[in-house]
Amino acid sequence: MADVIQLLPDSVANQIAAGEVVQRPASVVKELMENAIDAGATKVQVILKNAGKGFIQVIDDGKGMSPRDSRMAFERHATSKISNAQDLFNIRTMGFRGEALASIASVAEVELRTKREEDELGTYLFVADSELKKQENINCSRGTNMLVKNLFYTIPARRKFLKSDTTELRNITTEFLRVALTTPDIAFTLVNNGNEIYNLPASGLRQRIVNAFGKTINTKLLPVNCETGIVTINGFVCIPQHARKTYGEQYFFVNHRFMKHNFFHKAITEAYAGLISGDMIPSYFLYFTVDPSIIDVNIHPTKTEIKFQDESAIFQIILASVKEALGKFNVTPTIDFDT
Ligand code: ADP
Ligand code: MG
Repeated sequence: MADVIQLLPDSVANQIAAGEVVQRPASVVKELMENAIDAGATKVQVILKNAGKGFIQVIDDGKGMSPRDSRMAFERHATSKISNAQDLFNIRTMGFRGEALASIASVAEVELRTKREEDELGTYLFVADSELKKQENINCSRGTNMLVKNLFYTIPARRKFLKSDTTELRNITTEFLRVALTTPDIAFTLVNNGNEIYNLPASGLRQRIVNAFGKTINTKLLPVNCETGIVTINGFVCIPQHARKTYGEQYFFVNHRFMKHNFFHKAITEAYAGLISGDMIPSYFLYFTVDPSIIDVNIHPTKTEIKFQDESAIFQIILASVKEALGKFNVTPTIDFDT
């Protein structure tokens, strides 16, 4: 019998990888916003047509790309952010897998316009089906403008399973806020079909939260600040009266990256014990700073799951610092007999 195993063509390999990285328009928004942040942008505009089903455009004023890098950016495992396995334990950028653009360009049509400060002319690229279809020099300002059209046009079954505009837009705003909350010092706007949904100027963290969630949250924010050998925690928890029955404003960030962490969430609810009833969920915006070597971000392509070296120690630190924040606020605990 002849040998039967063959290497898949790049376009197929990219489409397989895209299954994990690009689940819906919101995934594209997240990846492009993260790239803008990594490029040192001070201002990032997200522009949508029909909740991303028409197009998704992200414009930044970051460092831009050379003509050669613009092409390389669409290759799989092509990244400027890490260069060896050691770097995986010292990640200081949002991206590092070199997968997002390759994945996106395997399931959508992408137009890229980009220019570096030092270049006279910028670069225009049109990429579709994982193939460079067109490249030319253009006049444009410094930074990068990515336009992603016809998402999933190569995979009709996926396209069909996109939800209503309302649902897809809700997913996008969720991702948009997660990213926008990581870096209050960067300005972000979100526009869908010409309607401005968010306009978040560069500011401090408290102001960013107020701009994102409305003025009334301002008086409900209790500062958390705690520095230990393994973790520094900054941010806010909300007063117990602001707790809700549904999930919404629960935000953990580690080294500027949004993360989901059920175990750490338990530490927060434990800190509120006696102040809210068991079915209520407190709101929080907590930022952890740790040495990158004690976490592993490389667990899932979307990078929202993160493993820590010493989770039970961090649990105790969260518990203590949130309790302290709540104690400073003038409330009388009802059942909190902890000593
Ligand atoms: P990763 O972010 O993991 O490196 P991506 O596929 O998202 O992988 O991007 C590939 C590369 O393209 C990046 O490493 C970066 O060098 C370049 N790039 C992508 N987006 C931008 C941007 N908005 N501005 C400048 N460079 C970018
Ligand atoms: Mg990226």
